[in-house]
Amino acid sequence: MPGFELFGDNERKELNDVLENGVLMRYGFDGMRNGHWKAKELEKELESQLKVKHAQLVSSGTAAVSIALAAAGVGAGDEVIMPTFTFVASFEAIMMLGAIPILVDIDDTLTLDIEATKKAITSKTKAIMPIHMCGSMANLDALKDLCDANALILIEDSSQATGATYKGKPLGSIGDLGCLSLDFVKIITAGEGGAVLTNNEKFYTNADHFSDHGHDHVGTDRGAESHPFLGYNFRISELHAAVGLAQLRRLDEFVDIQKNNYTIIRETLSQIPEVTFRTVPEGGEESYSFLSFFLPDLEATRKVSSAFKDQGIDACFHYYDNNWHYIRKWEHLKDLKSLYPFSEEVKEGLTYLQTKTFEQSDHFIGRNISCLIKLSWTEEEVRERASKMVSLILKCLA
Ligand SMILES: *Cc1c(COP(=O)(O)O)cnc(C)c1O
Repeated sequence: MPGFELFGDNERKELNDVLENGVLMRYGFDGMRNGHWKAKELEKELESQLKVKHAQLVSSGTAAVSIALAAAGVGAGDEVIMPTFTFVASFEAIMMLGAIPILVDIDDTLTLDIEATKKAITSKTKAIMPIHMCGSMANLDALKDLCDANALILIEDSSQATGATYKGKPLGSIGDLGCLSLDFVKIITAGEGGAVLTNNEKFYTNADHFSDHGHDHVGTDRGAESHPFLGYNFRISELHAAVGLAQLRRLDEFVDIQKNNYTIIRETLSQIPEVTFRTVPEGGEESYSFLSFFLPDLEATRKVSSAFKDQGIDACFHYYDNNWHYIRKWEHLKDLKSLYPFSEEVKEGLTYLQTKTFEQSDHFIGRNISCLIKLSWTEEEVRERASKMVSLILKCLA
């Protein structure tokens, strides 16, 4: 997945444009910049490639989620439904606004289970946030129906699935708002960065102003602009945007490479009857950033995971035992280990985590291994890797 594997002359050229005129900021300094507006150009490129009316670049994917929620008016005491399997950024972004993350079981798609989501809706729920983990997606039609029926906002966290599609539409463009990450390990990287995507005019304007101290971005004199509401600084720099621009132009190429590598490994692993693969919702096409599969039980999965590590099959994750991506190891959230006091609403709202168990999520994550698909492998390396994986799995299952 990481786009940094294929850095080259294009990234250098875009970056040098910025360094040569010296304007590292995305707004203002019109006279000095010799027509270079990398952040604006990258936003246009995102809009065209991801088929969405508006893209707002920001400083990170985590910021993108907070901004998307704020743009839709989600805040203090509001509940946001999210899955138990994701990167910690997802609940951090919700809690930034004083809102309450409601963790819900996943199913064999490794994303939100629809029945569990339905049951989690209360009078305080404001938004449902599916997280398209490891290059594939939630059942977006079902979630959209749930949102419509309950007047909720649908926010897609597509940080790990840029390049995937659902019923022909790019992920991130389908919900009321979509969020991308451009951090260093994502398929398209800017070093650091993120984006909010939306077809909603009002949400876009909100995101645009909110991410830049409330600036309304009218006219060419920043000091004279007005501030219709409060904001923060979540701006991206021109340096980051320049790298992201060169990278995004290669998105289709990156997805094609991943698809080839993924397909070889998947076909090879398919020889083993005990290996099953994650379910992709009907109409979905993955970005092929990861190959995610299930083994028969937790014990076998732990065995295979450590055999992979010992035998040099790198970048394969057993998230059940991972500190950052699964509820099981999030004691800091469960115990509210915060540097600063939380509101009573948040404290109260999170008490359910003291007792709630997630057997269904354990059932899937406990048996799941997700292997990163790299861009830089040669076909020979992929084939060698695939057959080594097969023999290690067979040995562990014997
Ligand atoms: C990477 C990631 C984020 C956060 O992105 P940053 O740009 O690193 O802040 C959010 N959600 C998911 C699922 C991610 O993988």
